[in-house]
Amino acid sequence: MNEILQTTVAGSLPKPAWLAAPQMLWAPWRQTGAVLAEAQCDATMLAVRLQLGAGIDIPSDGEQARQHFVHGFLAGLDGIDFENKVTMGIRNNRYDAQVPQVIGALKRRHSVHAAEAKAARAATTGKVKFTLPGPMTIVDTIADRFYGDRVKMAMAFAELLNEEAKELAALGIDTIQFDEPAFNVFTDEVLDWGIPALLRAAQGLSCTTVVHVCYGYGIKANNDWKKTLGEEWRQYERIFPELARSPIHQVSLEVANSRVPIEFIGLLKGKDVLVGCIDVASEMAETPEAVAATIRRAMAYVAPERLFPCTNCGMAPMARDLAYAKLAALSAGAALVRRELGA
Ligand code: ZN
Repeated sequence: MNEILQTTVAGSLPKPAWLAAPQMLWAPWRQTGAVLAEAQCDATMLAVRLQLGAGIDIPSDGEQARQHFVHGFLAGLDGIDFENKVTMGIRNNRYDAQVPQVIGALKRRHSVHAAEAKAARAATTGKVKFTLPGPMTIVDTIADRFYGDRVKMAMAFAELLNEEAKELAALGIDTIQFDEPAFNVFTDEVLDWGIPALLRAAQGLSCTTVVHVCYGYGIKANNDWKKTLGEEWRQYERIFPELARSPIHQVSLEVANSRVPIEFIGLLKGKDVLVGCIDVASEMAETPEAVAATIRRAMAYVAPERLFPCTNCGMAPMARDLAYAKLAALSAGAALVRRELGA
């Protein structure tokens, strides 16, 4: 394990073609029942080993056991109707998604992710990271037919996420990340209840905690939306000082090919920063030199001990070879900068 500039990933990775249809979001599974459950754990172990092979210091579970980064957790809860999905505009109507409906009081029947967390844990003696959706992003990716109040529903989800996260930490997961791509969409509400709900989800956790904010997967709806956001993406300017005051340990954001002003990283005083050096919307692997250049830009605002070179976002919809080539470039770029620093 490297001492500085430890590399990690934002979360999801492409699934093997024997597990799910490749290169799409919400990809249908190719197995069912017990065979599917076993295949998901096998794919999780494989994803961890492939990340280690690409030189990643802190691999993730790769989200191999969930169809989507939000709906995977929801599938294990009572009070949600997955049979009758409805079309809903998500991320402030940026694009339509088929979403399940909350039809009763939310309850966690049992651990949702224990099987794949154990598989990820078994695949390495080093650190391992696990991702969960954040409460605000969940609320923005499900239809409410029961609570009638976004804040109340977010807090209900936060309590269940907290129960789950505590179990994952007890299974030996070192780092738990909550994904909140909705944070840059609803900036007023983030301060009112988005961050309080996040803190409820992370309350009392003994492991390292992360919040991942981002401008989304590299899909067309997101790429088109980004073109409407102007020369500078300034949404984090209001959010980061609040996160800096919170007990969350790490913040993950995109930097490569992003229009977020790099100096905003300086607003995250006292936090570890997971700096996105890999563009998940580009069709070519970065060069190690390009990764190194991104790391150097970020080092003007965060010390190398607190800087974790990372991907901009999850890589689920990407070609598998490309995703791992990008991870190898991420490791090689971090190694270049470590050598410059004499580490
Ligand atoms: Zn993301």
